[in-house]
Amino acid sequence: MGRIAYVNGRFVPHADAVVHIEDRGYQLADAVYEVWALFDGKLADGEGHFVRLERSLHELAIRMPMSRRALTLVLREAVRRNRVKEGMVYLQVSRGVAKRDHAFPSPEVPPAVVITVSRVDRAASELRAAQGVGVITTPENRWGRCDIKTVGLLPNALAKQKAREVGAVEAWFVDELGLVTEGASSNAWIVDQDGVLRTRDTNANILRGITRATLFDVIRDAGLKLEERPFSPEEARSAREAFITGAGTLVLPVVSVDGKPVGEGVAGPVAQRLRRLYIERAKDRAI
Ligand code: PMP
Repeated sequence: MGRIAYVNGRFVPHADAVVHIEDRGYQLADAVYEVWALFDGKLADGEGHFVRLERSLHELAIRMPMSRRALTLVLREAVRRNRVKEGMVYLQVSRGVAKRDHAFPSPEVPPAVVITVSRVDRAASELRAAQGVGVITTPENRWGRCDIKTVGLLPNALAKQKAREVGAVEAWFVDELGLVTEGASSNAWIVDQDGVLRTRDTNANILRGITRATLFDVIRDAGLKLEERPFSPEEARSAREAFITGAGTLVLPVVSVDGKPVGEGVAGPVAQRLRRLYIERAKDRAI
C-alpha cells in the first residue's frame, strides 16, 4: 500500500498530493509546521507540539484550521491510513490561498493544511546514536523570530547542506558573540567537565524544542544538574559530551565539532542514557 497524504480536507495518494500555486506557504513561507515522532503509531510528546503549534499560529495571526481535538483525529487517521508505527508526522498550516500580495488576504481565507507521514528505521537510528554524529558550525544568519516554527527554513537548509557536504549530520548556528544558538533542526547541548548539562536559554533567538522541554523533566527526575546557559564551539569540544535533541533525532550524541573530537570522540554515556530515558518518557506522553 502506498503513502497517503492529507491535503485540505482530503486523504489522497502521496504522489498525487498538491497545493495551489498561490498557497501563501509556497510563495511567501507564510506558514508554520510541527513534527511529531511516532512511537508504536502514537504521537510522541503529543500535547507539547500542539501547544507550540497554537502559539506559532497565534504569533502570525493565522487561525487554527480546526479544533485541537479534530486535528488530533485527522493526524491519527493519517497515521492509520499509512500503517506507520515507527516514524514521523509532518503538519503544515499556511495562511491559505490568495492572489499574491505581501499583506494578508482580505477578506480572510481558510488556512491550508497538509499532513504527511513517513516511516523511520528505528534500528538504523539506534545504530547512528550508538556511533554518534559530527556537527559543523556556521554563522547565525536567521531572522529574529526563530521561536516561531515557520517554514521559512532557507538558512537552515543551506546550513544543513554545508554539513552534509563534509559528512556531518547537523550544523550549529553561532551568534556574533561566538556562542552556539541551536542546530539547523535541533537544539544543542553539552555535558560540561563537572557533569552539568547545559543548553541555551530560550530568551535567545531559538526554537523552544519540545524534546528539550521533556528532557528537562527527565534530567530533573534523574537527579542530574541542568543549566540554561550558552556555550561556544570550543567549550563543546572541551566538554565531556555533546548532543542534539529534536523530534527527528530524539537525543543524538555528537562526537565531533568542525571535525575535531568532543571529549573522547565517542558517543557519551550521559547522552546515551538520556536518549533511553527520553524515549520512555515520550512514549508515556504519546497520544
Ligand atoms: N531547533 C530547530 C531549528 C528545529 O527545527 C527543531 C526541530 N523541530 C528543534 C530545534 C527541536 O525541536 P523539537 O524538539 O520540538 O523537535
